[in-house]
Amino acid sequence: MLDFLGTRQRSNTCGELRAADAGKTVTLMGWVNRRRDHGNLIFLDLRDRYGITQIVLDREISPEGHPKAEHVRPEYVVAAIGKVRLRGADAINPKMETGEIEIAATELLVLNDSKVPPFSPAEPAISNEEVRLKFRYLDLRRPEMAHNIEIRHKIALAVREHLSAQGFYEIETPFLTGSTPEGARDYLVPSRVNPGTFYALPQSPQLFKQILMISGLDKYFQIVRCFRDEDLRADRQPEFTQIDLEMTFPQQDTVFAVVEGFMAAAFAAVGITLPIPFPRITYDEAMRQFGIDKPDLRLPGLTDVRSIFSTEQLQTLAIDPALPVVALRIPKVGELSRKERDDNKPLFETKKGAKYIDDLKRLEKSFPDAVTKLRELTSAEPDDLLVIVAGDAATHISASDTKFEGRLSEREIAVLSAAGNFRVELAKKYADRHGAFAVTEWVVQSAGGKAQLPAPVDPPLVKNEGLLDGSLAFRPLWVTDFPMFEHEPETGSWQPAHHPFTSPHEEDMDRLVSDPASVRARYYDLAMNGLELGSGSIRIHRQDIQQQIFRALGMSEEEAKKRFGFFLEALQYGTPPHGGIALGLDRLVMILAGASSLREVIAFPKTAKAIDLMVDAPSTVRDEQLKELHIRPAARS
Ligand code: ASP
Repeated sequence: MLDFLGTRQRSNTCGELRAADAGKTVTLMGWVNRRRDHGNLIFLDLRDRYGITQIVLDREISPEGHPKAEHVRPEYVVAAIGKVRLRGADAINPKMETGEIEIAATELLVLNDSKVPPFSPAEPAISNEEVRLKFRYLDLRRPEMAHNIEIRHKIALAVREHLSAQGFYEIETPFLTGSTPEGARDYLVPSRVNPGTFYALPQSPQLFKQILMISGLDKYFQIVRCFRDEDLRADRQPEFTQIDLEMTFPQQDTVFAVVEGFMAAAFAAVGITLPIPFPRITYDEAMRQFGIDKPDLRLPGLTDVRSIFSTEQLQTLAIDPALPVVALRIPKVGELSRKERDDNKPLFETKKGAKYIDDLKRLEKSFPDAVTKLRELTSAEPDDLLVIVAGDAATHISASDTKFEGRLSEREIAVLSAAGNFRVELAKKYADRHGAFAVTEWVVQSAGGKAQLPAPVDPPLVKNEGLLDGSLAFRPLWVTDFPMFEHEPETGSWQPAHHPFTSPHEEDMDRLVSDPASVRARYYDLAMNGLELGSGSIRIHRQDIQQQIFRALGMSEEEAKKRFGFFLEALQYGTPPHGGIALGLDRLVMILAGASSLREVIAFPKTAKAIDLMVDAPSTVRDEQLKELHIRPAARS
């Protein structure tokens, strides 16, 4: 039998009451997290978004409530009315924020019952993710998920407040629009009223935000959904949220300062200081020092160790002397057995024409001086793992050796990225040994009030004003001066490394056609802890240059007009210099929630197959609907 709520109102949340509240009469409402029946005493742990409070139903105090509690089951919704009372010393639960008190209920209302849930929201870890996604409403009842949602809200709010204070307007741009060139496939929406035509869902608000600058609105931002039909990986979602912004008359530094400002505000909102300004590195340097364009600075980078070997020694080792010879170092891994080293083999990409040496003992037998120098150059401690990565003289990969002044050749990049990716993989594998990632985990957990372990660093990273020092745990880095174009060997064509509205460096402009590979873009990325958090650029604001870029990309005038005609037109009406950036909100929240996947920080995410298991989308539609949309139903088998 269910009770009516009547005019009852909740007086407090389930996370609120403390010892100081003892003696108050309260009304709590929530879900039954757990129930323990001790005969004359029944304990209900009542849960809501704010926490858990213990309710006691004593047959003597509540002769009517007690029998009801006998029938109550987990996930029933109840209201408990009673007095806050201090628990006995032996019953205090220090793990619960409300653990010093309990409610001695005089009345219990059963507001709703529940089917037996497929999993209990009281469990901290549920291994079957499909069930979690199908019953997302139950999953979101878990404190872990509520915490992630709270963090997401706080971050978005901090970003909004910060940008608004800097004079940015939040302006919405359409979802039903034309194609935006971000390099992915579009989601298309058929138009019923315009037979045979389609809208595209925006891959980003790119052209609109540039048009807002042409419109004189000066500073725009939007926390906006973007849609990209890509093959999904663990850290991708078909619809995701960007913190998107654009400004008029900026230099690269102006954009950086704005982003650093809202990033610091976002971190502060979850209790962590993020030191600003962020360090910078050019793309070429990032490749040289880390072999990757989103370096994780929590671990040492690559060291150029070409000089430790003579040319003859390189020959003996079948190392290509024309390519980089670098060492990677993972601290505190300790000596690896032969079996352990063999197990690491699949983590190295041999198809990049590179090879590696990880048996230093053996190397030392033939080349003792080289190993001594290697240890010196890399400042390795005795228990650090050192691996040499170099070009394999025996395998030829088809990559360009062409070298533009100051730039790395494709073949050099191949070797460096083999080393860079191996470094990332080994760092993940030996995370328990080097401990660098544990610092991040600890800071995240402490900020969320959940750290159970002592600080993994000495002294602990606590700073003043109540914020935790995030300087070791979070290592942002601006990566600048990307190449303007990427060469596509299959088609022999040049593609924009970012998107085709990115401005080249003014000094490189005259080489657009004669030497496209050497042209640098005013394109920048923000990396943090090995993840790409965002990308942006200073844009092209002149129509003549925009046309040159389209030409360099092999796009005819007609094609450019057809795809971006409205934009090329707009460019001709006094377009100011402008630039901006977009940062992945989901990814930022994932980092700050210490979550293992984007699905943990999105209320209603899709699976790796782009399916929403809860609403069962995508789904088939009725033939009449298709007809209305002027789409002929495909024959069904
Ligand atoms: N629209 C770009 C992106 O989504 C970001 C930008 O250039 O501002 O990656």
